[in-house]
Amino acid sequence: MKLTSRILFAMITGIMFGVIFNLMNTATFSESILFSTIHKFLIDGLLDTIGQIFVSSLKMMVVPLVFVSLVLGSSALGNNARMGVMAGKAILLYLITTSIAITLAIILANFMEPGTGMDRVTDIEFTGKDAPPLKDVFIDMVPSNPVMAMVEGNMLQIIVFSILMGISLSRVGEKGQDAIKILESINVVIMKMVFILMQLAPIGVFALLARLFSELGLVAILDLASYFFTVLATLIIHGIFIYGIFITFLGGLPAHRFFKNVRPAIIFAFSTASSNATIPISMEVAEKRQGVSKSISSFVIPLGATINMDGTAIMQGVATVFIAQAYNIEIGLVGYITVILTATLASIGTAGVPGVGLIMLSMVLQQVGLPVEGIALILGVDRLLDMVRTAVNITGDSMVSTIVAKSERLLTEKTFYNRQD
Ligand code: ASP
Repeated sequence: MKLTSRILFAMITGIMFGVIFNLMNTATFSESILFSTIHKFLIDGLLDTIGQIFVSSLKMMVVPLVFVSLVLGSSALGNNARMGVMAGKAILLYLITTSIAITLAIILANFMEPGTGMDRVTDIEFTGKDAPPLKDVFIDMVPSNPVMAMVEGNMLQIIVFSILMGISLSRVGEKGQDAIKILESINVVIMKMVFILMQLAPIGVFALLARLFSELGLVAILDLASYFFTVLATLIIHGIFIYGIFITFLGGLPAHRFFKNVRPAIIFAFSTASSNATIPISMEVAEKRQGVSKSISSFVIPLGATINMDGTAIMQGVATVFIAQAYNIEIGLVGYITVILTATLASIGTAGVPGVGLIMLSMVLQQVGLPVEGIALILGVDRLLDMVRTAVNITGDSMVSTIVAKSERLLTEKTFYNRQD
């Protein structure tokens, strides 16, 4: 089997294993000694260990990979005025797709009315988070200490530092070329490391999903079925149709090919629920499967993983309408426009790690005067939705990098069309 098929197989068997185990847990088996031994040593022991090591090993690659490839990518474009144009195109597309996502979410949620008649009594407490002042967002983009930025994995700061370094490298002649050669060698090594990790991915993906689904109470979905399926339907419509339309009409490329190429990144995002941890795979997919030039992917992918979260915005849109309906509060047109603006900003501010989208939702709710405690109502199904929305988030990044590359004539179409698996 090809690697992608193996990872897909691991994903399906992992989910099946976890679901079966979870069902047995709720049945009488949970009392038996054999069952609790399996739980202790296999699920909480072996699978949890493998899963955590797998996620850490992906995260381990993020900072060195982004730094080296972005310095190289921007040094290749350093003397080229296109850099600013490219960045502008990417950011504009990120903002447009996120606004479409949230608008779609609000329309569908109003149509499906998931929160009407909802029992809003819950014993789970939830405390929200205040939005950082916009001013701080800009100030924080420039690192006062780049080493600290790398230690903390602060992606925007690393991006700013690396681009400046890359541009400078390309403008210092001979000396710069020496440094570029060294970075190129390091880059080859880092790509090799990512390649090795990808070979181990089927085991990691199986362990992550088997353990997660064995814990995940799927019963919670039944209680919140209309909310769950409204979010899921919007994510699927956005991820397939809206992205498909963008790729076909703006990129002039066949959508089915694009989705086939992006598959490995989707599986990783789904398994880890983290756009950040998926960066190494997203970059590999962009370069080796979509044919996007490194000078674009090295910038557009990490930027997208940090600021572009269409899936998260969709969840926030549906959740806002859901909570308003559950508490019987009218939002009104001005309220909806506020939701679109704040959810777009909130998704930019959401870090690409599991569950943060829900914390940022409190910012949106506060903005339109909805009770933040309402978040407790949807906590039960958030983990599963997090996995799907992260997959949408990274598909959006891949779509934008492909379109920008195509428009800049930096897409190798032979690579885009040639993948067999
Ligand atoms: N888990 C999401 C991501 O990493 C963020 C979120 O919506 O919680 O993309």
